[in-house]
Amino acid sequence: MDLSVIRLTHCNRSIFSVCVPEACPSCGATLRGNRLSEAPVSVPTPFTNAHKGGCCLLIQGDFDGTSDLHTGISNTTGAVYNYTPAGLSVSLSGWERCVSVPLVRPDMFPLLSHFHEDDHNCFSFCLGFINSVLGAEGRGPLSKHDFTQSYILPRVRRASKYNTLITHLSKERYYMVEREGEDM
Ligand SMILES: [Zn+2]
Repeated sequence: MDLSVIRLTHCNRSIFSVCVPEACPSCGATLRGNRLSEAPVSVPTPFTNAHKGGCCLLIQGDFDGTSDLHTGISNTTGAVYNYTPAGLSVSLSGWERCVSVPLVRPDMFPLLSHFHEDDHNCFSFCLGFINSVLGAEGRGPLSKHDFTQSYILPRVRRASKYNTLITHLSKERYYMVEREGEDM
């Protein structure tokens, strides 16, 4: 279970913590929360439990930039179809903390169990399935590059940033950054 993180703004900084401090850790001013802009907000986790939802593209890994990412697709009941070196696997557990991208067209998902990919690679399996859904809608296929750029990378970056934040907050009380461009 992840820590629940809050963010507040003071001294033109974003201050992340797991509890609301009495005073600004940067300038020491008492925080009374009387200005709405200084009120703490909770930072949503980018991770979801894939088995509790369905019809999503899923991305799993350490998100530390060094280990491989594993991808899968969940059916309407939260079973995750993914390719492993042993072949197609249907996982009912193990995807409790992953990044999910909702995919529309739940009517296509019964086809998952019949869907095969010659490449035997988790990534091309997912891309192939998404392209078959797009094809059924009369739309052209996504290239591997576009798929990576639009579906995978933005979420992986956010998950990676969030993990860094969580790791920091497990050791330190606060994580402070200048306001600019640091919204999570
Ligand atoms: Zn301050």
